[in-house]
Amino acid sequence: MRILILGGTQEAFALAEQLAAAEGIEIISSLAGRTREPRLPKGQVRTGGFGGAEGLARYLREERITHLINATHPFAAGISANAVAATQSAGVPLLRLLRPAWAAHPDDRWISVRDAAEAAALCRREGGRVFLTVGSGELDLFASILNAHFLVRMVDVPDQLPLHDCRVISARGPFSLQDELRLLAEHHIGLLVAKNSGGDATYAKIEAARRMGLPVIMIERPQVAPSHHAVGTVEAVMDWVREMRRQPN
Ligand code: NAP
Repeated sequence: MRILILGGTQEAFALAEQLAAAEGIEIISSLAGRTREPRLPKGQVRTGGFGGAEGLARYLREERITHLINATHPFAAGISANAVAATQSAGVPLLRLLRPAWAAHPDDRWISVRDAAEAAALCRREGGRVFLTVGSGELDLFASILNAHFLVRMVDVPDQLPLHDCRVISARGPFSLQDELRLLAEHHIGLLVAKNSGGDATYAKIEAARRMGLPVIMIERPQVAPSHHAVGTVEAVMDWVREMRRQPN
């Protein structure tokens, strides 16, 4: 088996570590190249876009990839749609590793929105001190908000952010509940904006907001056509790989 893992997440990293230890399996992890010094998993690693669905299909053929595992972030809708189209055209089996979304606890004060644009519109209405955890790609949507102070946390801090009034801190998850409680208190945060990423690594901020009674603008996941098999854990992917190995070529 020669497996391509579309990565950029903690599960993709964990999966590569497990598959690298399995005999008779070659793996290539693919990263988008957004992070300056990414954590590199075991096995071969390639970086950068493929050039759309056609480019990915070409890569699958040229590299003789036998199976594709899409372990990208739940909000990575573009590459996920490309993975579906490319595997259909190249005739390669595809598995989606998609961690379950977080569900609201009775004490949570979530305001669910469809996308980051809707979150920005709500933020503009509320104003105040906001912990903005949407990732660098969507910050532009918050650029014209003048009545809010934003706390932003990123792995790589850019020279400039498109925000009117902000404080940027550099950090890489996972984050503990104690750290998140301290951060929210220190910066006098009154509102959290988050993506419904799911998983444990970034859940502490949601729990901290609940403990402090803070409202959370929760951006729900983009819809990607569910036209392929999906599982929620690295263990379930390993089961799928074992199943695929048992099948005749
Ligand atoms: P996206 O919007 O779905 O992808 C945009 C383009 O980036 C894709 O069309 C593809 O370019 C390239 N790309 C994305 N992931 C790639 C990968 N693993 N390997 C090679 N090329 C990739 O993705 P995104 O939301 O910008 O996320 C980019 C990466 O960051 C993903 O790997 C994702 O797992 C990770 N990430 C995203 C988030 C988030 O909130 N979106 C959070 C944490 C981590 P081509 O069309 O040229 O192939």
